[in-house]
Amino acid sequence: MTQNEQKLRYFRQRIPTFACVPGCHDCCGPVTTSSEEMARLPEKSEAEHDAALADLRCPHLGEKGCQVYAERPLICRLFGTTPRLACPNGKRPEVMIDPKLEQQIMRFFKETRQVLV
Ligand code: SF4
Ligand code: SF4
Repeated sequence: MTQNEQKLRYFRQRIPTFACVPGCHDCCGPVTTSSEEMARLPEKSEAEHDAALADLRCPHLGEKGCQVYAERPLICRLFGTTPRLACPNGKRPEVMIDPKLEQQIMRFFKETRQVLV
């Protein structure tokens, strides 16, 4: 396992989780991610990518919500867990993310090449 994969596993295990408004995807949109996370997502054609981007949509958002929930990128996991990415519908985990962990994740974003999902 590469260092980045180890970090991803560490982050994924520690970002707090919470229940969203059922069916809500208000915070979904075009997002970027590391190439390691991208490799775990199903491939989309260029046409699918273009169509999604034209509507400012994520190509993995389906009629019933996120189609890649178990493998969704870090930024999607972070949403709602920090005041900096607060849920517009007031949902949040009981305990927000540890600020130190959030800083580590922000550093990871800066240090890794991020690609459009
Ligand atoms: S975090 Fe908030 S905005 Fe995003 S899907 Fe959950 S309820 Fe909706
Ligand atoms: S990967 Fe899933 S959670 Fe993240 S923006 Fe796309 S549809 Fe939303």
